[in-house]
Amino acid sequence: MIAAKTLRLSLKSLRDFAKKRLPDNVVIELDEKDECPLEIVRHMCSPDKLGIQLLFIPEEFGGMGGGAFDVYCICEEMARIDLGVATSVLATFLGSDPITVGATPEQKKLWLSRIADEGLLFAYGATEPEAGSDLGALRTTADRVMQDGRIVGYKINGNKQWISNGGVADAYSVLANTPAGPSWFVVEKGAKGFTHDEPEDKHGIRLSNTAALAFNDVYVDADRLLGGVEGQGLNQAQAVFGYTRLMVAAFGLGAGWAALDRAIPYSTKRIQAGAPLSEKQGYTHKLIVPHVARLEAARAYIEETAERIDAGAEGSLNTEGAIAKYMASEAGNTAAEASIQALGGYGYTHEYMVEKISRDVRITTIYEGTSEIMEMTISRDRWQLHLKTRGQHYHEQARVFEQLHVQHPDVGADTAALSFHALAEVMEKARVGRLTRYQHILLRLGEWIAYVECAGSLARRAAHMAENRLSEKTNRRFDARALAAISRIFAREAALKIAEEGLRWIIGAGGLAATDIASFENTLGLSAIQRAQAGLMADMDYVADVLYNRVAKPATQKAA
Ligand SMILES: Cc1cc2nc3c(=O)[nH]c(=O)nc-3n(C[C@H](O)[C@H](O)[C@H](O)COP(=O)(O)OP(=O)(O)OC[C@H]3O[C@@H](n4cnc5c(N)ncnc54)[C@H](O)[C@@H]3O)c2cc1C
Repeated sequence: MIAAKTLRLSLKSLRDFAKKRLPDNVVIELDEKDECPLEIVRHMCSPDKLGIQLLFIPEEFGGMGGGAFDVYCICEEMARIDLGVATSVLATFLGSDPITVGATPEQKKLWLSRIADEGLLFAYGATEPEAGSDLGALRTTADRVMQDGRIVGYKINGNKQWISNGGVADAYSVLANTPAGPSWFVVEKGAKGFTHDEPEDKHGIRLSNTAALAFNDVYVDADRLLGGVEGQGLNQAQAVFGYTRLMVAAFGLGAGWAALDRAIPYSTKRIQAGAPLSEKQGYTHKLIVPHVARLEAARAYIEETAERIDAGAEGSLNTEGAIAKYMASEAGNTAAEASIQALGGYGYTHEYMVEKISRDVRITTIYEGTSEIMEMTISRDRWQLHLKTRGQHYHEQARVFEQLHVQHPDVGADTAALSFHALAEVMEKARVGRLTRYQHILLRLGEWIAYVECAGSLARRAAHMAENRLSEKTNRRFDARALAAISRIFAREAALKIAEEGLRWIIGAGGLAATDIASFENTLGLSAIQRAQAGLMADMDYVADVLYNRVAKPATQKAA
C-alpha cells in the first residue's frame, strides 16, 4: 500500500498531465480518427515520466507496491480522463496478472522488473473467436517440443480476438491448451509466426488499440510457461478476478461521474421556461440524482472490497469483484445515457463529450466478464450460502443492519434491512419452487443480490463517514449528511426492486398460487417497504441541493 499523500500526488500528476496532453479537443480528434495515442500511453507507463505501472508492481521488483484501494483510485481517475487510454494502461496490469499470481520467482523478477524499469507494455490474450465468456472452449494449443526426453519449449498455434494493446504491446500473456490443460505463456513481440491484425473499428474506447492475434507455430522456450507447471491457467485467471474486476468497476464509476460532471454544470447555465434546468425537479430527479445514488452505492461496495483485499481477506473475493463490476458498470452506463438526455441536442453531438463517454463506458459491461456472466457468478455463489445456512444468510445480514439503524437512525440501514429480509424470502421461495431451473430467475437473483448488498455497503459507509472512520484515501465528495441521504434513496430503490420484481418473477415462473400471493406479500414485507418510501422526495431535493451547492454551509466551513 502506498501512503495517502503519495496517492494524492500521483492523482494530481495524472490530472495535470491529462489537462496538458489530453484536453477535450485532442480526445475528440483522436476518437474521430480512431487512433491510439501510443506516445501518451508510453509516457504514462514510463518509469521516468508518469510511471502509473509502478503503482501496481511490488516494491521488490522496483514498483511502488500499491494495493487494491490505490489501484481503484487511479483507475477511477484514468476513466474520468479517457476510458480508451485507461484500457491501454489496464492491459499491462491484466497482462502481468498471470505473472503476479502464477509465475516462478525467476519469471516474476524478469517480467515485473522489466515492466517497472523499461515501461514494457503488455497485452492479455485470453479471448478467442469461439471462446469468449466460456474460456473453457479455447482452441489455441501449446504443443510440447521435446529434446532428449525433456520439454525444452512449446509451439503455439491458434487465434485470439479483441485483445487490448494487441497491435502495440511489447509482450503478451497468452492462454493456450497444453496436454495438461490451459496454461499461460509469455510471447514477445516479433516472435516468428506471431502476427496481429489491423485495429478493430469499435463503437467506443477508440483511443485504445484492440486487435486480433494469430499464432502460427510460434516457438517459445519452456521457461515462458508461467509457473513452470502445465494446466494451471484457468485457476490463475480466476485468482485475480476479485482484483481486476474491481478495476473495471472503477472505470464504470469514473466514466459515469465524468458524464454527470458535465451534465450538472451544463444544467445550471441552460435556461428553459425562464429558469435554469438545475432548478427543475423533473429534470434533476430523473436525470441526475438517481444516478448519483447508484454510482455512490457502487463506490461503497468497491471501497469495502478493496479494503478487504488489502487487509488480506481469504479467498479471491471473486463474487465481491463481480458485484462491484456489475453495479458500477451498469450505473456508469445509465448515468452516461442520462447525461446525453440532460444536454438535449448538444448531448447528441461529439463536441460535448457525453456521447463519447456513453460509447466508451459501454465496454465496461462487456470486458472482464459480461454483466450476464457477473449475474451468474453472483447468483451461484450466494445461492450456495443460502442453502448452506438453510435460508438464514440474508436474514442474518438484515439483523446486522437493524443493529446499525439503532446506532445510526438516518443512514437508511432500516430500509436496507428490509431489502435483505425480502431477498432471503424470495430466495427461499425460489428454492421451494425449484425456480432456479429457469436461468432467467438465476440471473435476476444475481441482480437483486447486487442491489441489496450495495444498499448495505452504502448504509455502512454513511455510518462510518459520520463516525469519521473512513480511510484517509476515501472519496469525500459528499459529507456525512449528504451521504446518509444518498444511502436512504438507494436503500429504498433496492428494497422496492427486490420486493416488486421478486414477487413478479416468483409469480411469473409459477412459484406462487394466486391464493398465496397476499400472504407472500406480507412475508416479503412489501407494505413496510412501500411505507419506507416516505421522505424520498425530500431526500432527493436535499441531494439535488448539495449537488448544485444550494445548501448553506456551516459558519466554520464558510470561513475555511
Ligand atoms: C474493446 C474490447 C477489448 C477487449 N480486451 C480484451 C483483452 O485485452 N483480453 C481478452 O482476453 N479479452 C478482451 N476482450 C474480450 C472480452 O472479454 C469478451 O468480448 C467478453 O468476455 C465476452 O465474450 P464474447 O465477446 O465472446 O461474447 P459471448 O461470450 O459470445 O457473449 C455474447 C452475449 O451472450 C451472453 N452470454 C454468454 N454466455 C452466456 C450464458 N452462459 N448465459 C447467458 N448469457 C450468456 C453475454 O453476456 C453477452 O451478452 C475485449 C473485448 C472488447 C470488445
